[in-house]
Amino acid sequence: MPELPEVETVKRGLEEFIINESIKEVYLSKFSLRFPWPKDFVSKIVGKKIISIRRRAKYIIIGLSDNYSIIAHLGMSGCYKVLKKGEVQDYKILKHDHLIIDLENFKIVYNDPRRFGYIDLTNQDPEIHKFLSSLGPEPLSNHFNADNLAETLLNKNKPIKNTLLDQNIVSGLGNIYVCEALFRSKINPKKNCSKFVTSKGKPRKNLILLVKKINEVIKEAIEVGGSTLRDFSNINGKMGYFQSSFNVYNRENEKCLLGSCDGAVKRIIQSGRSTFFCSKCQK
Ligand SMILES: [Zn+2]
Repeated sequence: MPELPEVETVKRGLEEFIINESIKEVYLSKFSLRFPWPKDFVSKIVGKKIISIRRRAKYIIIGLSDNYSIIAHLGMSGCYKVLKKGEVQDYKILKHDHLIIDLENFKIVYNDPRRFGYIDLTNQDPEIHKFLSSLGPEPLSNHFNADNLAETLLNKNKPIKNTLLDQNIVSGLGNIYVCEALFRSKINPKKNCSKFVTSKGKPRKNLILLVKKINEVIKEAIEVGGSTLRDFSNINGKMGYFQSSFNVYNRENEKCLLGSCDGAVKRIIQSGRSTFFCSKCQK
């Protein structure tokens, strides 16, 4: 499932081609995605010009003329492809292509086999849209820091792992990067939130380290994603993964990669999701 770095990679990939292009024609498959298509979606966007693209958490927001914005989430398996002029004519609609937007010089194809992705259209400020309005700070923004996080964690009687997956606390983090950041901080995913905050509500050392490691792991993953963008087929949100450098994710029973540790990676279930960690060095 694409997480923040992968969505950022997709956004950067699209950005290169779609800005200032006008929407000529739109194809929708007969299937709906996770939610039904917005009412009059096609007639409302045809003729509009694409003026901006940005990312918020795991959402891509495409700004159109006349103050419209498309808000799109890739779900589990959504991916975008951009075809250049020469490739457009021969394109045959593939199974799971659910949205095709013809621009002046390009064609954007959205393919999503599992259809957990979703797309909405708004002519209001996207920040007040129901998908975005309650999202927590971006992990790379100034608002995400140990002091603010300490206030949030104070009196929270929950494991740290579950809390970091809560999009209202920090947005865009998913299972993979939370597991990796906890490993790098040598923190046990089951550790209670109260153990990260002093009685006065200030961050303890472990929380300061955790925030630093979250930043580090997200930045590195974005860099890896960026480096895969040379070839356009890579905006599918898969190549951007940090896969080759996962320390714990999907490594159950394999040796811990911390040089001085002879432990092995364990998998446990927390709130229905797999957590990967080394019980020996993550205390
Ligand atoms: Zn270890």
